[in-house]
Amino acid sequence: MKNSEITHRKSETRAGNAKLVCELNKVKITNLVRDSDGISRADLAKSSGLSAPTISRIIDGLISDGLVIEVGAGISKGGRKPTLLRFSGVDSFIIGIDLGTTNIHGVLTDLDANVVAEIKTPTRVEGGFARVMERTSEVVGELRGHLGSRKSRICGIGIAIAGLINRDKEIVEFSPDFHWHNVDVRAALQRGHEIPVIFDNVTRVMALGEIWYGAGRQYKNFVMVNIGYGIGGGIIIRGAPLYGQKGMAGEVGHFTLDKDSDIQCECGNYGCLEALASGNAIAKAARKEVERGAASELLEGCGGDPSRLTAEIVADYAKRGDATAWKIFDRAAEYLGIGIAGLINLFNPEAVFIGGGVAQAGDILFDKVRKTVHARALTKSSGNVAILPATFGTKSAVMGAVSLILSGIVNQDHEQINHQNSR
Ligand SMILES: [Zn+2]
Repeated sequence: MKNSEITHRKSETRAGNAKLVCELNKVKITNLVRDSDGISRADLAKSSGLSAPTISRIIDGLISDGLVIEVGAGISKGGRKPTLLRFSGVDSFIIGIDLGTTNIHGVLTDLDANVVAEIKTPTRVEGGFARVMERTSEVVGELRGHLGSRKSRICGIGIAIAGLINRDKEIVEFSPDFHWHNVDVRAALQRGHEIPVIFDNVTRVMALGEIWYGAGRQYKNFVMVNIGYGIGGGIIIRGAPLYGQKGMAGEVGHFTLDKDSDIQCECGNYGCLEALASGNAIAKAARKEVERGAASELLEGCGGDPSRLTAEIVADYAKRGDATAWKIFDRAAEYLGIGIAGLINLFNPEAVFIGGGVAQAGDILFDKVRKTVHARALTKSSGNVAILPATFGTKSAVMGAVSLILSGIVNQDHEQINHQNSR
């Protein structure tokens, strides 16, 4: 590499860092205003450690975005009474969609993520991409309908979707859950609604939701692991999501954990964490056990039809003391603990959140994961890591989808978000 190139790279990195710091400052200030009942610019400077001109610049931007309003005067500490600022979301709404293989889950919220309306409808993946987009579009239409004739704006539609998102091309490059290749979700949805659409990988979206609305607000470095049909990861470093080269970072589900495994993963590889510990893997293992005639009440649990076994049924029977169910679930939880121990060694986070359908099993999962992490991760890095359920439980993805839009407005990194949209 030539010297001039190196200099160029260095200045690019510096510019990138400056942009990141600037975005993080905006998030910090927005959250300070959201948490207050009214705060002055001077108190914002004191609480954030930022300079008065920086605060003024950020607040001016937030006011023009309609996120912050000036509300009367505070108490003077000598001199002029300071103007108080408050978070405003009046007549501004966000639509969040969790596009899952089982259900399309949509919410209409205000800017503070208070849910105004909620819809859950079967996805019917078998209809193909165009049909799923049509159904999603219908959900968006129904949610918009809840605003009636109120004069209000919808700032954007945030979508959480399972799969590899190519951020350069802004497409879903591959979704193993949906069996989609190179699909353009934004174009398909924007066509009918003329509202900005932002989408991202579901687990990264869940992590973003933690930063904006959940317990993740108190951490700078954390990891979200999503265990549903598959397994995904979302990594937050110094308050910002890690994307990697094209936007595909965090695929913890495809760590190979057993090189000799004959269980094939949806990605084509064998012995991936996802193939050993996902909801789909747990259900498949249970089917296999029941079909080979294992002594277990699982057969009753599925009404005599092994094809109806789910991870949820396995967790239920494990809790009731069914030995076969317990063994299957415990084994999956141990693999998960091994995967999480690896993440902790790699990223040294303050917390690990576990979300998704399988996480709803509760203690039976978390106890084993904590025990395994304790046994396998480096003590120095894992000693004080909090391993917690995702803040919004089964709503984590949809709340994350909402946060995609709020973070888009604050960071202004998506030119699709603008404030001229009105219904
Ligand atoms: Zn895999």
